[in-house]
Amino acid sequence: SAERPVVTRIAPSPTGYMHIGTARTALFNWLFARGHGGKFLLRIEDTDRERSTPEATAAILRGMTWLGLDWDGEAVSQFEQKDRHAAVAHEMLALGAAYKCFATQEEIEAFRQAASAEKRSTLYRSPWRDADPATHPDAPYVIRMKAPQTGETVIEDAVQGRVTFRNDLLDDMIVLRSDGTPTYMLAVVVDDHDMGITHVIRGDDHLNNAARQTMVYEAMGWEIPVWAHIPLIFGPDGKKLSKRHGATGVEEYQAMGYPAAGMRNYLTRLGWAHGDDEFFTTEQAKEWFNLEGIGRAPARLDFKKLENLCGQH
Ligand code: GLU
Repeated sequence: SAERPVVTRIAPSPTGYMHIGTARTALFNWLFARGHGGKFLLRIEDTDRERSTPEATAAILRGMTWLGLDWDGEAVSQFEQKDRHAAVAHEMLALGAAYKCFATQEEIEAFRQAASAEKRSTLYRSPWRDADPATHPDAPYVIRMKAPQTGETVIEDAVQGRVTFRNDLLDDMIVLRSDGTPTYMLAVVVDDHDMGITHVIRGDDHLNNAARQTMVYEAMGWEIPVWAHIPLIFGPDGKKLSKRHGATGVEEYQAMGYPAAGMRNYLTRLGWAHGDDEFFTTEQAKEWFNLEGIGRAPARLDFKKLENLCGQH
């Protein structure tokens, strides 16, 4: 709400090099926080132990530092919060907002095959949703959120506007796996809540997740952050950005000798507009940056413009 001091974050998964899209998202969050006298936090989403590497984390920290995107406090490791995530899953159980599901993989597969053969929705509906705990076996279980099955979940997004999701198309997602580890969907909400995040500014590839995440906020009675899902960056040809378009990693730009101030200017303009202004200083960007100026159309990389702006810094 309006009275909460602004707290934003960037929450990269350390699974590779630092993508230009991550840099742009970090920049938007940084500008928004700095422009509002708020805080900008860094959370490393290293819950996926197989894909997360210390090298990737180091590359993120280097990229942020090169771009001058200073964060408040220490970088937070999501993995280190795992006990807290599990505790919240159990709180959801106690609140009746979640349930233990003892279904085996075979049972879930059989459900899907039967549903498919009968031309019903193959969305898994667990028989444990309304089971009496007295009937629970002594067996491994996952914790599933008891999601509403009728009606709609509405996202008020600062960029996308009002987005409506049909609840009957969503299953009871798993929040805690049978090994006690949290799923991404739970961990993000718990961390954002615990870190006091007021504005979630991130790629619109996460828009669908916002519906599920809203359900977790609602189940816990937590204040929902302002959502702002920004269109992804596309290549100069309007297609999904990939290596064939040229540099996609922050370090490549640094290696090519682009100045950080020019990169900030260019990345600020990538999906955000302030009238017809192209050149501006970082101070001006901090002052001017707002969520209203973020466009709904995907931004396209434009190397000429990058060269041009960098030449002016
Ligand atoms: N870790 C997610 C990613 O790198 C971001 C999650 C989020 O911003 O909510 O795509």
